Amino acid sequence: MSSLLLSPLAAWANLPVVASFSIMADITREVGGERVSVVSLVGADQDAHVFQPKPADVKKLAEAKVFVVNGLGFEGWINRLNKSANFKGVTVTAANGLKPLAVAEDEHGHDEHGHDHGRADPHAWHNPQHVLRYVDNIAAGLSRADAAGASYYRERAAAYKARLQELDSWAGKQFAAVPAARRKVLTSHDAFAYLGQRYAIRFMAPQGVSTDAEASAKSVAQLIRQVKKEQVKAVFIENMSDRRLIDQLAKEAGVKVGGKLYSDALSSQPGARSYLEMFRSNVTALSQSM
Ligand SMILES: [Zn+2]
Repeated sequence: MSSLLLSPLAAWANLPVVASFSIMADITREVGGERVSVVSLVGADQDAHVFQPKPADVKKLAEAKVFVVNGLGFEGWINRLNKSANFKGVTVTAANGLKPLAVAEDEHGHDEHGHDHGRADPHAWHNPQHVLRYVDNIAAGLSRADAAGASYYRERAAAYKARLQELDSWAGKQFAAVPAARRKVLTSHDAFAYLGQRYAIRFMAPQGVSTDAEASAKSVAQLIRQVKKEQVKAVFIENMSDRRLIDQLAKEAGVKVGGKLYSDALSSQPGARSYLEMFRSNVTALSQSM
């Protein structure tokens, strides 16, 4: 309370923070609380893989003190943006320090030339244990830009991490109820390998870890055969991907699309307006359909 007297709230302008996409923005708001104002460059239900910064985005970054990105090559557009904005603030690479999964080698025959083998899969936020690291990195970055807020950020980070731990153990229980042989899922792009690794689920997808290349006819045909042979029942569209490919696959394999997963973006609709909500929705949809 005494700190109110020393620095009246009215005199405090929030720390301006830019986040690369909606999931990073939400996690940053959880950690930064009332001391930060966060804008997201890529909005809800939008695809960060194919995002192209506009002059307005350059301006937002030029005015920010902190830039929070996922890293692991997810935002292929940040270097150019940093340069255009002449950004001199603190860049937080949220996934720093994680041991990333490598992009799967073309199991389904896709992307033979598009992938650099051994490249990291960027979608690490689909494992809440990794998000603990994101939170620590974000808290450290905010504290670097706003040293007076360090203990505030530390406390908020600890409270949010406790919720992430709860989420993770809840998710583990949901999947534990599903027999291992039925933990197979088809989605449009390969975004869920970390979730798969954490809870022993096999994900298949016609597109690779990015959405910027089309799936080949050969890989789609192979995937249809696989879905039939392995009797995959859980088929999902994603909130930020074109659903036509999955509709076609489902039709040709004779399975029904079971619902929607949130992969690379939050939603403006209830059910996935925060990371915690999004993860809960995904786990519920997956465990019920398998
Ligand atoms: Zn993705």
